Amino acid sequence: MRWSRFFAYTLKEAPKDAVVASHKYLVRGGYIKQVAAGIYDFAPLGKMVLDNIRNIIKEEMDKAGAQEVMLSFVTPYELWEETGRAKKYGDELLRIEDRKGQKFVLSPTNEESVVDLVRGTIKSYKQLPVNLYQINLKFRDEARPRFGLLRGREFIMKDAYSFHATREDLDREFNLMQETYEKIFERMGLDFRVVEADSGAIGGSGSREFMVLADTGEDDIVVCSECNYAANIEVATRKHEKRENPVKTEVIEEVYTPDKKSIEEVCEFLGIDPYFSIKAVAKKAIYDDGKEEVVVFFVRGTDSLEETKAKNAIGALELVDASEEELEKAGLVPGFIGPFGLPFDVKYVIDDDLRMAEELVCGANKKDYHIKGAGLLDANLLGNLTIYRDIAAVKEGDKCPKCGAPLRITKGIEVGHIFKLGTVYSEPMNATFLDENGKAKPFIMGCYGIGVSRLIAAAIEQNHDDKGIVWPKEIAPFVVDIIVGDVKKTEQLEFAEKLYEDLQKAGVKVMLDDRAERFGPKIADFELVGFPVGVIVGKKLKDGKVEVRDRKTGEKFEVEAGEAFEKVM
Ligand code: ATP
Ligand code: MG
Ligand code: MG
Ligand code: MG
Repeated sequence: MRWSRFFAYTLKEAPKDAVVASHKYLVRGGYIKQVAAGIYDFAPLGKMVLDNIRNIIKEEMDKAGAQEVMLSFVTPYELWEETGRAKKYGDELLRIEDRKGQKFVLSPTNEESVVDLVRGTIKSYKQLPVNLYQINLKFRDEARPRFGLLRGREFIMKDAYSFHATREDLDREFNLMQETYEKIFERMGLDFRVVEADSGAIGGSGSREFMVLADTGEDDIVVCSECNYAANIEVATRKHEKRENPVKTEVIEEVYTPDKKSIEEVCEFLGIDPYFSIKAVAKKAIYDDGKEEVVVFFVRGTDSLEETKAKNAIGALELVDASEEELEKAGLVPGFIGPFGLPFDVKYVIDDDLRMAEELVCGANKKDYHIKGAGLLDANLLGNLTIYRDIAAVKEGDKCPKCGAPLRITKGIEVGHIFKLGTVYSEPMNATFLDENGKAKPFIMGCYGIGVSRLIAAAIEQNHDDKGIVWPKEIAPFVVDIIVGDVKKTEQLEFAEKLYEDLQKAGVKVMLDDRAERFGPKIADFELVGFPVGVIVGKKLKDGKVEVRDRKTGEKFEVEAGEAFEKVM
């Protein structure tokens, strides 16, 4: 590719909301452009990296015997009703309606679609197992789209779904997929860990995540210093026990959204209409065994901030923990909290909301709280405070549950997730096959996801410096960038053109920077865009020399012009 004819551009400024390196450099390097919150266009460079990752995934999935399909992006709502996920999935599911009033969803994941594809078409155990995958668009109306491609609303996922006649066969495929994922991430040159994980909204039992290690990761992972135990902190922490009736609860922090502007911001985070008043409360619960838990929750109402403040001043919030009699005495309708019976609702706090709460509580008061884990408040808040999750998180140095050695906690970016689903989708959807005895049985399923577009950003989080991206060779859009020092000097241009053609013929992905630009900005672009190797054809060509630069180490080598080809091959 010749830069002079290539649709590439670089920007001096990163977007204001860009806080992580990948977001800044992808935008500044001309890889992506934001269209709306969490929605991006891919410029040619971005599309090239995406395709490189796609190809690695496709090669390894095909090798493992999976078959590529393409499932519709717009999926009938009815299918989601069959499994009950239409309701359960929550606000991330974008529901739409066509002109005839038929309801659809934009696929955030495709279990329903794929079950619909195989039911009635796979009839016998003899046609099993089958693993179907696609590399396709997904939409999740994330409460907080952020960090560029790391958490988009529209993004590309590789999702695979396997169908089996027996549990044993599912176990075999699950292990095969784990090996396949390991190969994929190794080929991409990533430092990652496989961790025990929670099954989340997808459901089922048994799941593992693939975490790219990076300080900017949103997941805390627990790694043993001795054995191979590694788990998402959510899993390591959770006890699944329902704890009730704390001996004492105390509010340790309350935060009003301080002004109208931030109310709007908070509403945007929460995905609710602006002009609601919001209050974040961190509350500590103390149990009879001395255990303490911190729960963060929101109180929001349809009235103004002033009204809310007024209500809270007379103790409305304290009524969260009030007994039913106390509420009745205060003239409250059960199900509502607030002295005037207004529909305050307390949102239970999970994952993203918790992070936001943490920011609200800590940010507004400039305090360094560390609220770990997630508190799930019972929907019925009119009685006792009920907490379903144990908040006291695993700490650095605790007992490895497997070998007892001290644990380390580190940050990871979830780039892949594999699940043993069993029959949680096939059963409600009535998707069955005939077993050896001619008996109808629901398919036993597995599902396997990779965040394809997220991987672009994850790779950068792990491979960058203060000048820009440092691509691993396997996924770089171009491996070699030939920079012509001065295009007006015919000998420089001619030499560079020849080298460019030779490398291209040899199958090297090469860019020729033949722009009529000064040398400085060209080098800056080489560093920002992140090509692994630079060849500078400049003044020294007169003495028969060119310079080769290693983007990663920053090393510069002066080489004989005639040897440039061999040196970069
Ligand atoms: P997260 O915990 O980051 O929200 P998830 O657990 O909800 O991810 P899965 O349902 O396991 O995601 O989807 C499979 C993969 O899709 C994830 O491992 C991740 O790499 C990718 N993915 C999920 N959500 C997003 C998103 N909003 N933007 C980009 N990639 C995503
Ligand atoms: Mg998610
Ligand atoms: Mg997750
Ligand atoms: Mg996941």
